[in-house]
Formats: sequence, C-alpha cells, structure tokens
Amino acid sequence: MWRDISDNILRRSIERVLNILRSGYYDYINEITKVVREVKRDVIEKLDSYVSTFIESASKREIEVHLAETRDDVYSILRRIVSPGSLAVLSKSMVCEELKIRKFLINDVHCEVWETDIGELILQITDEVPSHITAPSLHVSRDRIIEALKKVTREEFSSDPEEIVKVIRRFLRDKYVRADVGITGANALAADTGSVLIVENEGNARLVSSLPRVHIVITGVEKIMPTILHAFLTCIVQCSYAGSFPSAYINIISGRSYTTDIERIRVSPAQGPERVHIVLVDNGRTRAREDKTLKEALTCVRCGRCLIHCPVYQSVGPGYGEPPYIGPMGVMWTAVTRGIDYAAKYADMCLGCGNCSKNCPMGIDIRRVIAYIRRALRQ
Ligand code: SF4
Repeated sequence: MWRDISDNILRRSIERVLNILRSGYYDYINEITKVVREVKRDVIEKLDSYVSTFIESASKREIEVHLAETRDDVYSILRRIVSPGSLAVLSKSMVCEELKIRKFLINDVHCEVWETDIGELILQITDEVPSHITAPSLHVSRDRIIEALKKVTREEFSSDPEEIVKVIRRFLRDKYVRADVGITGANALAADTGSVLIVENEGNARLVSSLPRVHIVITGVEKIMPTILHAFLTCIVQCSYAGSFPSAYINIISGRSYTTDIERIRVSPAQGPERVHIVLVDNGRTRAREDKTLKEALTCVRCGRCLIHCPVYQSVGPGYGEPPYIGPMGVMWTAVTRGIDYAAKYADMCLGCGNCSKNCPMGIDIRRVIAYIRRALRQ
C-alpha cells in the first residue's frame, strides 16, 4: 500500500520513532545475540524434530496444540474453539495480522473483537493498517485518535496523552473482564518445556492471556527454540534491537494454572484460563525452508532494526511492503507467506545499500535475499 510521502505527520512520526529506537541498544547484548543467531539457524535446519518435541512438551502441560498448514486451517481450528457471539480480546501479534484474525472473527464467527495493544486499538478504531512492526500506529495523528476514541467510548476528554491512555485503559478493562477468549502471539516457544514467551510493555498481553476463560496462542512454527533459556534469550535480543530493553514484561506461560494448596491435591485450572490452545502456523514457512536463500528469513526475530536503517522505509514508510510485513524484513516475509512472485514488486523498490544486512542481529544477508526475490520479476 502506497502512502503520500508528503504526508508530514507520517514523516515526522517515523523520524521521531526511529530516533527513539536508535538509542536503545546495549553493548553486552552482543554475546547473547551470537548464541541466539547460531541456535536459530540450527533450529530451522531441524525444525520438524523441534516441532514434535514442542508438541509433546506442551501437551504434557495440558496445552492443546494444533498444527495449521494454511490460513484456512487456522480458521477451521478457531471455528472449533470460539463460539459465535463470543467476546474476544487480542494482543498485538504479527501472525494474527498476517492471517487477518480480527476480521475473520468479526465477519465469519460473528464475535465482538477488541485489540488491546494501544497502537493496534488505534488502528482498529481508525480503520488503518500498521506502518511499523513495533510502533504500528505511528502515522495516526492525535486528533484522529481522539475523534475515533470519542465515537467508541462516548466519553469527553482532553488531548493530553495521559488522559487519552486513561480513557483507553478504562475502556479495555471492561473488555478483559467480560472476554470469553484471549488471543496472543508469541515471541518465542521453548521445545523442552512447552512454554510460550511473550514480550510486552503495556501489560495487556498478561491480561489477555490470564483473564478470559480460553487463551489461544497463534504463532509461527519458526518461533520454537530448543530450551526455555534459549527462548528467553531470544526475547532479550528482540526487545534490545527493537530499542525497548528491558521490556516492562516478559510473560512465560508453561501450561494451565494450577494449585496444590488443598491437601496437596492438584487442581487445574486454578485462577488462569480453563483451556490453553496453541496454534502452530506454517503458512509458507516450510516452503521457504526448502529454498536455500529464502530460508534465512526464518531466523528473523522481528526486532524492526532493519527498518530503522532502511532509506526506502524512511522515505515511503508502510508503502515499502505490505502490512504487517513492511521494510526489508517485510519484503522477505511477504515472500515467505505469500510467495516470491507476489513479493517481487516490493523487492524492486530496494536501493541495495545493504544497511539492513549490516544491522540485522541475526546476521541475515537481507540485501541478498531481497535481490533474489527481485529476480522473479525477470522470469
Ligand atoms: S530481518 Fe533482522 S533486523 Fe530485520 S526485523 Fe528481522 S531480525 Fe530484526
């Protein structure tokens, strides 16, 4: 989707966000990053075996795991879990955006659905698409946010950001408490313990994953790491290179809640959701793994660092790619999820400066992958 690059709000917002993100890097992360990079490459080589181990470990923790090869498979799984008319709350997830989960639940399952990440809620109520992978609503002006929020909440409030956030907080509290289903993504999964790790700053993911009766995690198979320690390190790398280290929260969910406080008898659930589901999504990832160039993209931790250093993204914002996958990583991930032919038109916008490759914590030679995708235009 192209945006007018003379749109001053968009350009100023991008500059402001990129400056904030540029300043958040810690040198001692380098060692951790090397470990994560090596382990992620190894996991992609042996992904099938890690998927089996993860399913076994998660099942032992009373988590119901579903494998979904395509978007339609994800939809069928959700139809079985989510009853028509349910109230669902979502926390920010690129995979949910990739699969258009909100629209599916609203239009096909007839649910009431609310995004709970403030940026995503802003996009929902203004009917916009994300313009950055970690700061999705950076192009939306405060005036537009206030106008849309007043319509939804029917409240009067000033333009002070603190007051706007208070209104959103009040609005969403009611949704969390009444929600039947909470849907999150995951930043990493641990094969040895079946754990799900979610990085966040707002505190919404912990409410979405703990208050509703059912918690559904929808995430890509490539998020699996061998151990809970590797999964944790992945989260540290992700938030460091995203410029938000330390993130306010790293949630670790290793099964249903339980208690043994009454005569040491185990009772589950205790106070968390009654059921926890994980939908492991393929949607092109296995196909990408069979392509020796494109498979590099699967090690991406989605930190957004490559966007910060990309002159094309800085000029055209979300016009460089197709939301949610925008910027250099977005070109690669559009190819993974929608095919190389489809992504080639975005690859053609690349200037070939190589800043993305130089700054990627996972050492992905993004410039080479994009050049490879662009070749599809000439075939
Ligand atoms: S390609 Fe590299 S820099 Fe870009 S989001 Fe992925 S891990 Fe981060």
